[in-house]
Amino acid sequence: MNAPEPIKAMDFIDLKSQYAALRDDVNRRIQRVLDHGQYIMGPEVAELEQALAARTGAAHCITVASGTEALLITLMALGLKAGDEVITTPFTFIATAEMIVLAGGTPVFVDVDPASCNIDATLIEARITARTKAIMPVGLYGQVADMDEINAIAARHGGIAVIEDAAQSFGASYKGRQSCNLSTFGCTSFFPSKPLGCYGDGGAIFTSDAALAQACREIRVHGQSRRYEHTRLGVGGRMDTLQCAVVLGKLTRFDWEIARRIALGERYSELLRAADVPAQLLAVGDDRDCVWAQFTVFVDRRAQVQQCLQAQGIPTAVHYPKPLHRQPVFAEVYGNSPCPHSDAVAQRVLSLPMSADLSDSDQQRVVEALASALMR
Ligand SMILES: *Cc1c(COP(=O)(O)O)cnc(C)c1O
Repeated sequence: MNAPEPIKAMDFIDLKSQYAALRDDVNRRIQRVLDHGQYIMGPEVAELEQALAARTGAAHCITVASGTEALLITLMALGLKAGDEVITTPFTFIATAEMIVLAGGTPVFVDVDPASCNIDATLIEARITARTKAIMPVGLYGQVADMDEINAIAARHGGIAVIEDAAQSFGASYKGRQSCNLSTFGCTSFFPSKPLGCYGDGGAIFTSDAALAQACREIRVHGQSRRYEHTRLGVGGRMDTLQCAVVLGKLTRFDWEIARRIALGERYSELLRAADVPAQLLAVGDDRDCVWAQFTVFVDRRAQVQQCLQAQGIPTAVHYPKPLHRQPVFAEVYGNSPCPHSDAVAQRVLSLPMSADLSDSDQQRVVEALASALMR
């Protein structure tokens, strides 16, 4: 009898192949920084900010230390005060609501549409009060939320800002416009596994409001309006030059990567439908595309399915197993938030391997393994 073929382990996100393809661009960019030695606020910082602003169409881009820091700085720029409320989704990464609390505000959790896992815009208006200062939708899995509806609600209630948490949706389009240029602020992350990642931590804020952009620039450096003149409270929130250089190197292939991600998402859906796999697909609006920061489906018996896939060398992940109002840090105060859909989808979501460098054959292998795991 022949020995069984060894199982080849697959990467959940294949950053090694990405670097192999971008090696020259990234290395050249890094070397240039090492040569000029301006590690903080070197020329690559402004160069990246200009390139990203142009790409999104926003008038201003302010790079910052992380996606988390981007959220915090925008809330500080809005002058959030104790008691101010910020409406957001509980079905997201902790940073979204965590920064609302750190900035002194109170998160108000509004449930998600269970088909898209993004905030259900039809539930927002009922939760607006005189204290609502901002709405913070998240473009979960790389699909922008219903931003036009959300902006319209904010406009009807004069003075409410909209902050798009676009940590997962940078590069996604919405009605012909780009994520990060859809509302008062767009905040993104360059965490390595995000659609546009660096090789460490990084993030960016986008806005077309010049005064708010200036506030963010000051807050990024300890509220400094000129050298050693601190006019407001800020943070140490700069993105370092080396990480900006990495992102600049990666931009050379980013259009291809986004197109490839969108195509892989469509192919995943086609393959799963063709194989009649009993997994429910995420709903993506006709007026937007999803860049699939995660390729996430809904399944039953999730833990068993994950085990089956793992045994075949296929890693999976759950984004997210517990909505924020159920997290120990928030449960006492927010545990009664009426968010049944978030509770339900948290039990069923399963993310499959996804990155621009995922090969067609590996993708096929994932679908076959998922089919056999779900049909047994
Ligand atoms: C990753 C992520 C963040 C935080 O970004 P960091 O760069 O890791 O700080 C915030 N919100 C969402 C939705 C995220 O996915």
